[in-house]
Amino acid sequence: MEVIINNNTLALVLGDITKQTTEAIVNAANGTLMGGGGVDGAIHRAAGKKLLEACKQVRQNQLNGEHLPTGEAVITKGYELPAKFVIHTVGPVWSGDKKGKDALLANCYKNSLRLAVDHHLTSISFPSISTGVYHFPIDKAAEIAMKTIVAFLQEKSFGKVVMTLFSEKDYETYAAKLRDILA
Ligand code: ADP
Repeated sequence: MEVIINNNTLALVLGDITKQTTEAIVNAANGTLMGGGGVDGAIHRAAGKKLLEACKQVRQNQLNGEHLPTGEAVITKGYELPAKFVIHTVGPVWSGDKKGKDALLANCYKNSLRLAVDHHLTSISFPSISTGVYHFPIDKAAEIAMKTIVAFLQEKSFGKVVMTLFSEKDYETYAAKLRDILA
């Protein structure tokens, strides 16, 4: 599915984000930035060992050794990936007190897009942040992701945003939300 919003393109694709050829891909990382399972593991495997080194540097130099806070984003090179850059963001975990989690998930998209703009990038691919091991309900996550990206594209002259979904079911959920928002 592909739609034009204010001269920008928003595409939903079924596929593997490590294969995307946008200038940047977004990693649903954890606060340590030291890699993990799911999409994070796949991105680190495809990018090679230098990505972990770059993440260690970011921790040291930009975060004073601390974890990347939930909803924030940082950028590294993409190394062996087709994408030139990886934007790492930390989604909220769906557990305990759910208050504020919607806003934190929206921040992941907003801050990743802001970082892309700051680096003069014109294309970016997102995975479905937080809906894997972080257990954010996909229906809610899809609505937040689509609303946030659409609002951004309505405001800005950016280029192309790709939402890369890893299952047919996820793809259908995001497509239905996008159709609702644009209706
Ligand atoms: P989180 O910890 O933010 O929940 P996960 O990696 O567990 O992150 O899952 C986020 C989403 O990414 C899930 O929908 C999962 O199916 C999907 N995913 C896993 N591997 C890939 C991949 N290679 N490309 C795109 N999406 C992926």
